[in-house]
Amino acid sequence: MTDDIKGGLSSLTNYEELDEDVDDLHLSNTDHIHVDEHSHVPTNLHHASFNSLSLKPELIRAIDDNGFEQPSEVQLQTIPAALLGCDIICQAKSGMGKTAVFVLSVLHLLEIEETPKIRCLVLCHTRELAYQIQQEFNRFKKHFVNKSTGESLIKTKVVLGGTSITKDKKALQSDVPHIVIGTPGRTLDLIRSQSLNLDHIKYFIIDECDKVLGPHSSDMRNDIQTIFYKLPRNKQVMMFSATLDDEVRNICKYFMHNPREIIIDEGKKLRLDGLQQYCVKLPENKKNEKLINILDMVDFNQVFIFVSSVTRANTLNGILNDEGFPTIVTHSGLSTEERIERFKKFKHGSEARIMVSTDLFQRGMDFKSVNVVINYDMAKDEDTYLHRVGRAGRFGTKGLAISFITTAEDEKNLQLVRSKFVVPVDEMPESIDKTTYR
Ligand code: ADP
Repeated sequence: MTDDIKGGLSSLTNYEELDEDVDDLHLSNTDHIHVDEHSHVPTNLHHASFNSLSLKPELIRAIDDNGFEQPSEVQLQTIPAALLGCDIICQAKSGMGKTAVFVLSVLHLLEIEETPKIRCLVLCHTRELAYQIQQEFNRFKKHFVNKSTGESLIKTKVVLGGTSITKDKKALQSDVPHIVIGTPGRTLDLIRSQSLNLDHIKYFIIDECDKVLGPHSSDMRNDIQTIFYKLPRNKQVMMFSATLDDEVRNICKYFMHNPREIIIDEGKKLRLDGLQQYCVKLPENKKNEKLINILDMVDFNQVFIFVSSVTRANTLNGILNDEGFPTIVTHSGLSTEERIERFKKFKHGSEARIMVSTDLFQRGMDFKSVNVVINYDMAKDEDTYLHRVGRAGRFGTKGLAISFITTAEDEKNLQLVRSKFVVPVDEMPESIDKTTYR
């Protein structure tokens, strides 16, 4: 860890002084759950069910409604520790169901009070992800209702930069939520203007924590640090990510007391089961033709196309539109309302089956019907690649990822990706058997 980060964080909290209940739990601090390379299920967990997690009946009903049959490994390993009140650092690859870990745990732990207080604060790095997390809370809380009035007993509120802060202030005053999900900047603005009261927070969660606490996110990290100072001492902190290096892991620990580290890994190399990965080596001026070719050839539900800049996203979107493809484009140059609107349209599959996007959408976003990801511009490193292609083939479904390799830099990144994945990234063949990705 760099000294400036260390210096900034070391003064956060002196946890040695804290004597919280979790010390009495006698839990070991790090669980590296190594999954058999050929199976997704650790050998001792084959027949586990959601019932074995002893969640509230309202949650079990919602889990059933959503068609979740069995908990994933990350859910099996992490929910029990969360329910015991432990601080948690959880690392598991994208699409394994980390969101449900904290959503189910918080909804289970939350006491329903007549006068709502903000009990849970969830922070993440993009507006779309915050919105998606709110949707996840909403779908699992639906059976917590007042039987006589039918009114929901648990309220959530999402606070996002780029939207009207006055509206947020009014909403937080007139209808206090139990759970707030936000991006760091807007959350801090609302705290500073005393519209968001943190005095009663019991659960503090950071999703995609490496993205907000990592060395390239100093603004967000500073905001989070300031927010953290304002939280009550007695609270449970949980952080989640698919990728966490030692430096960020250590930063995370500054926010926690004796955390349990749960790492669901699959041996040294990452596998993306069910995902076919190919590359196409070609010059820049052949990319459009090839892309159109691929879109005509592959059998897709929905496609994500990643490009390296806002301008390229707009240009490519225009080209595909002119060719008659049902596309939608999103990037950081749009207003928050517009981004959420486009996100919803794509997620519901109502208007567009192809999304052209910058890396805005690589992380944490869950689009079940995306089965094809195309790196029109190759990812700039292997982690970005992982997060991008992880949009297809989520939760054990099938998918196809195709990367265009044009520059020496792309070639270098392709080699990095190949060394990280167990599955090969071969040159794309003339035709691809559609049963391998649909
Ligand atoms: P992560 O946060 O690890 O990237 P998500 O929480 O976004 O993964 O989950 C990926 C997808 O898997 C979501 O569509 C989610 O609804 C689904 N999912 C999560 N847990 C389960 C489960 N136990 N059974 C079936 N589907 C699940």
